[in-house]
Amino acid sequence: MNIPFRRITKTPTEFEVESDGVTLKGTVVFKERNIVLLQAQLQGQIELTCDICAEDFATILNEKIELLVSDGIYQGFDEKLDVVEMQDNIDFDELLHTEIELIRSDYHSCENCKNQERN
Ligand SMILES: [Zn+2]
Repeated sequence: MNIPFRRITKTPTEFEVESDGVTLKGTVVFKERNIVLLQAQLQGQIELTCDICAEDFATILNEKIELLVSDGIYQGFDEKLDVVEMQDNIDFDELLHTEIELIRSDYHSCENCKNQERN
């Protein structure tokens, strides 16, 4: 799902994309110049690999995502929000893919290993 930046106004535009059982659903709204504010919820179930025992395990996602999307190179700076640069269109499938990859690249441990750490 793509939406051109020029179609984004101060009235929030809804979007929803899904990939491999994970949904990114929310709104985009014009913020300033070439900047769009995205607010969404990331929900679903993904398979992660435990960093301790290397077993795969499923986990439920339910995360609030808030970031800025810049049409072209971002020239300002925002201390609070991450900025994603895109060209002409907001590619929501790519955003979802990026968010999932970010989660996968974090440190994860399965329930078994978590329990052993506590003992
Ligand atoms: Zn484990």
